[in-house]
Amino acid sequence: MGEHQHATSTLREERLPPSDEVEELAPGVRRLQLPISMPGLGHVNCYILDDNRGAALVDPGLPGRGAWKHLTAGLGRAGIPLKRVHTVVVTHSHPDHFGAAGRIRQETGARIITHRDFRLWWDTADEESEGVESVTGAGANDALLEHPDARDRRTGPTGPTPWGGAPYRINRRRRLAYFAMRHGLGGRWFATPKPTRRVVDLEVLSLAGREFVSLHTPGHTIDHLCLHDPDSGLVIAGDHVLPTITPHISGLGPARDPLAQYFASLDRMKELDGVGLVLPAHGHPFTGLSDRVESIKAHHRERLDILRATADRLGRAPVATFMKHLFRERSWGSMAESETYAHLEHLRLSGEVTATRSDDGLVHYEP
Ligand SMILES: [Zn+2]
Ligand SMILES: [Zn+2]
Repeated sequence: MGEHQHATSTLREERLPPSDEVEELAPGVRRLQLPISMPGLGHVNCYILDDNRGAALVDPGLPGRGAWKHLTAGLGRAGIPLKRVHTVVVTHSHPDHFGAAGRIRQETGARIITHRDFRLWWDTADEESEGVESVTGAGANDALLEHPDARDRRTGPTGPTPWGGAPYRINRRRRLAYFAMRHGLGGRWFATPKPTRRVVDLEVLSLAGREFVSLHTPGHTIDHLCLHDPDSGLVIAGDHVLPTITPHISGLGPARDPLAQYFASLDRMKELDGVGLVLPAHGHPFTGLSDRVESIKAHHRERLDILRATADRLGRAPVATFMKHLFRERSWGSMAESETYAHLEHLRLSGEVTATRSDDGLVHYEP
């Protein structure tokens, strides 16, 4: 989630509303689309991996009552009784991917597989002072959860950003929903997903009658996992590589240089032999992974060039000013600032710009 686009003339495929069709993509691998409404995204792909024990689900969508109805209806169309779901794989710690995992486990005892570093943003945040009573009221149930790492893990959702920008604001309903999940008060709808198996890079996962290999691909988040089936060349890509948009690179996570991590994880994709079909979490399955990886890298290199040119022209400026040169006005806001910050930090760590904090607390960058 949290992807954005920089130019658009037609409706991007990641933005399309979900189709009701459950599509078979490869033996034992089907695609169920679930509705989500997030910036730039119209659906999330939940991949159904069938085997003789039942099914595994990769990224079963958002938490909440409405999302649960869509998920169970979709499983119905796929002919899978909920109790046959034995495994949930969560590609990364964003709510459109992990949302229903906790509830599925409550209902079926399914195991939950994530990367070792899977962590919900509040696991390291300070306590909030929000009241609890209203959390379990009707209002919380259908709340969507916004981008989880668009706020500082160290200070929680209301703290200042590391670059001194305005704190990210989420509305009260969503804040309550987060609070509920975080404190285990979410009941069925907002059950906290607790991984039962945490994997690292290059572990084998037997799913869909295949031997998938886990690939740790940090960048979009530090805990991002892709699955690769070397025998057939199938890759389940999560948000790491999407067909037409680039995943959000947040400057708010624990990584020192998330963009460098992302570049390295993209290069990793190019090293895989014989990749055929790629199954992204948003948009349609595609082929030509290496080309797509190259164009995403080129996109970020262009963004870095814009920042270099802006720094040369402006001299010294805060993150919000750089953001305005990098993003179209409709995208301005905390996510754009966070991504701008990630790019500026990449330049700073490679010695191309320096950063200083001024009296008003804002971090300024200059060549
Ligand atoms: Zn996503
Ligand atoms: Zn994501």
